[in-house]
Amino acid sequence: MQKKLVVVTGASSGIGEATARAFQALGHPLLLLARRTDRLAKLASDTTMVAGVDVTDLDAFRKALDTAAKRFGEVDCLVNNAGVMLLGQVATQDPAEWRRMLDVNVWGLLNGIHLVLKSMRDRQGGTIVNISSVAGRKTFPNHAVYCGTKFAVHAITENLREEVAGSNVRLVVIAPGAVETELLSHTTSSEIIDGYQGWKDDIGGAIASDDIARAIVYAYSQPQNVCVREIVIAPTRQGP
Ligand code: NDP
Repeated sequence: MQKKLVVVTGASSGIGEATARAFQALGHPLLLLARRTDRLAKLASDTTMVAGVDVTDLDAFRKALDTAAKRFGEVDCLVNNAGVMLLGQVATQDPAEWRRMLDVNVWGLLNGIHLVLKSMRDRQGGTIVNISSVAGRKTFPNHAVYCGTKFAVHAITENLREEVAGSNVRLVVIAPGAVETELLSHTTSSEIIDGYQGWKDDIGGAIASDDIARAIVYAYSQPQNVCVREIVIAPTRQGP
């Protein structure tokens, strides 16, 4: 049977890139989105479309989805993965960093949901995988606003699941602990970066993006009447 269209946001590095490769290996047509098109281009193929889209730009996001749907059929799975983590102390952090986290991690995720949900409800099927974090379940030092965005992802996912369960649409939240990616590099405080890096070393290192990609594929690959609601996945030696 023809495999269905999977969309991955933030596919230019880390967890999104690993997820894209995992779905490619399974033969799914793909639409991959991020801002760094040079990185996305390496993943492009006859069945993998890539587009330089900022997920906060609803119109650009819509255009890319429409183009992919015309070629491959409607979106069966959206992996809302794009995210930024700008750690800091609320008293001293530049408010522009709060806005960026809220815009990408919450607004961008809502844009994706808005763009695919109506069609999924009409078709009585589909899966939305939202990438939250262990920081969406509990708090950590210097994480106040980041945790706020990820608690929002958990809350939105849970509430939305209740809204669309009757339409046979699945909502999955994936909550990773420490994963070795570029995520930490965007934090502007070198002191916070060093502290976080030291903590990762103390716990024997973070897990790999492929470890999260496998969990995403596992959840999606269940029959449509089985909803894996949440997967929390972290390094074994990560205490908190
Ligand atoms: P990376 O920094 O490697 O990947 C982040 C991705 O998001 C990149 O592809 C980036 O692409 C994309 N992105 C950022 N801003 C935008 C935007 N405005 N529009 C479109 N794409 C955007 O980090 P991870 O792979 O770790 O992060 C992926 C997700 O996993 C995030 O939601 C993160 O919060 C979550 N997570 C990560 C953990 C970890 O320890 N690494 C732990 C828990 C959760 P580009 O810059 O090209 O636009």
